[in-house]
Amino acid sequence: KNFAAAVANYSSLPQPQTTPDILYTGVFINNEWHKSKSGKIFETINPTTAEVIAEIQCADKGESILPPGCPQCIQCADKEDIDIAVQAARNAFKLGSPWRRMDASERGRLLYRLADLMERDQVYLASLETLDNGKPYSMSYNVDLPTAIKNLRYFAGWADKNHGKTIPMDGDFFTYTRHEPVGVCGQIIPWNFPILMMAWKLGPALATGNTIVLKPAEQTSLTALYIAQLVKEAGFPEGVVNVVPGFGTAGAALANHCDVDKVAFTGSTDVGKLIQLASGNTNLKRVTLELGGKSPNIILSDTDMDYAVETAHFGLFFNMGQCCCAGSRTFVEDKIYDEFVERSAERAKKRTVGNPFDLNTEQGPQVNEEQMEKILGMIKTGKKQGAKLVAGGSRPEGLPGYFVQPTVFADVQDDMTIAREEIFGPVQQLIRFKKLDEVIERANNSEYGLAAAVFTKDLDKANYIVGGLRAGTVWVNTYNVLAAQAPFGGYKMSGHGRENGEYALSNYTEVKSVIVKVAQKNS
Ligand code: NAD
Repeated sequence: KNFAAAVANYSSLPQPQTTPDILYTGVFINNEWHKSKSGKIFETINPTTAEVIAEIQCADKGESILPPGCPQCIQCADKEDIDIAVQAARNAFKLGSPWRRMDASERGRLLYRLADLMERDQVYLASLETLDNGKPYSMSYNVDLPTAIKNLRYFAGWADKNHGKTIPMDGDFFTYTRHEPVGVCGQIIPWNFPILMMAWKLGPALATGNTIVLKPAEQTSLTALYIAQLVKEAGFPEGVVNVVPGFGTAGAALANHCDVDKVAFTGSTDVGKLIQLASGNTNLKRVTLELGGKSPNIILSDTDMDYAVETAHFGLFFNMGQCCCAGSRTFVEDKIYDEFVERSAERAKKRTVGNPFDLNTEQGPQVNEEQMEKILGMIKTGKKQGAKLVAGGSRPEGLPGYFVQPTVFADVQDDMTIAREEIFGPVQQLIRFKKLDEVIERANNSEYGLAAAVFTKDLDKANYIVGGLRAGTVWVNTYNVLAAQAPFGGYKMSGHGRENGEYALSNYTEVKSVIVKVAQKNS
């Protein structure tokens, strides 16, 4: 289903909980809640109001010392906590452990159960996500939660189907492969889709029998901690999933840990490089990276104008522009460029910005002040370098949180900073082009290669462009359609490895060849 349609379907939404209880703020290891070893905590902020929601125990950087009995203090885990969590995951992975002895179909059943529990608590989880991240509740409820739940169910189905092959090897041998779990997996996730990214990481890792230490982003730990409790309720054995809130230092401790067999990371390209280096400097742990993007969205002049304007708008502004695959370079064919600019500016000005718990809100705040300031800085740079501002450009008046107006730039040139660097905010770049080969070359002229799209009624042209684009996903006449079944990942500096679909299983599987000498082959 197109995410745009899901966001627009408000009619059947249950009312959100605007002040959801904060139930879990600790370090989750061995199915138990712990305080961080350092006693440090950190705050998580409501980006809509800029007020503190809760304090979390922190793996490293937190400053405060835990007030006795504080129910809303998030524990700040550090290296010591990571060591303990990795040990728990290692123990859970030991030969003969309940998890290693469990039938594959039973692993699938536990994943189905986790999905069911998330569905049971969908209103609460969607409300908590909106509180902590700022994304509209209509989206948390209608997009993030259902997509995450479907993802877990999809991988639950794979649990007993990830089988090897028998191989007709030369000589008197019976040869087959086993697909075995990699082992202890560190999973470091970002703040833009906290629940969904957690599901993308848990599903394939658990289906294939690995154990996990997951570090949520420090901006948005609350839903990951609640889901940790659901993991326990679902019946996963202790130590199989450990959730350790903390800052980048906790992530770095995980990436550098010699007893971690694999790290899966989603986030910035800069941190992705550090994680790859950490692997090389320690135990060559497997690394998969899902990083940034500067995705081209190519609009040909034969397209349906209304549809293309609306879908390009959605392709960029969805999730406040905080999408790694955002269509942040919209290439529009010369013949329709001026009209497209006018209509895109009109659409952006109509976008409803405000309280994310209001069901009519399309756009909430950015995740935090740092991101808001970064985006405002990029807008300033865009103006300075000569792009033409046709909508937005500043903070909306009267909103206390980290809001940015829906912003549209026209006359954007390929070498401008706003056309080269990830903005990760509600800022659309409209770029003019004339010829197909020219636009393919310009679209590929980026260090990134995560996603791309083309809008046209001419299938031959669409296929020609699809074949030429260097990107992990190419949408034709649609945007932001992501599903559990379809692989997702990047070319070039957008990372490597694929999440979702059957391809994701290989990220979490080692292949073992077993070669058995037989007396004499008879066939
Ligand atoms: P980030 O990459 O710093 O953070 C992502 C995760 O990595 C968080 O859990 C963080 O704690 C952890 N982390 C940070 N430093 C680490 C380190 N040295 N070792 C291991 N883990 C570490 O992202 P950010 O600073 O929150 O956002 C910065 C930019 O990253 C954004 O403006 C955006 O461009 C990009 N971003 C991309 C995605 C994506 O989905 N690809 C998501 C979030 C942010």
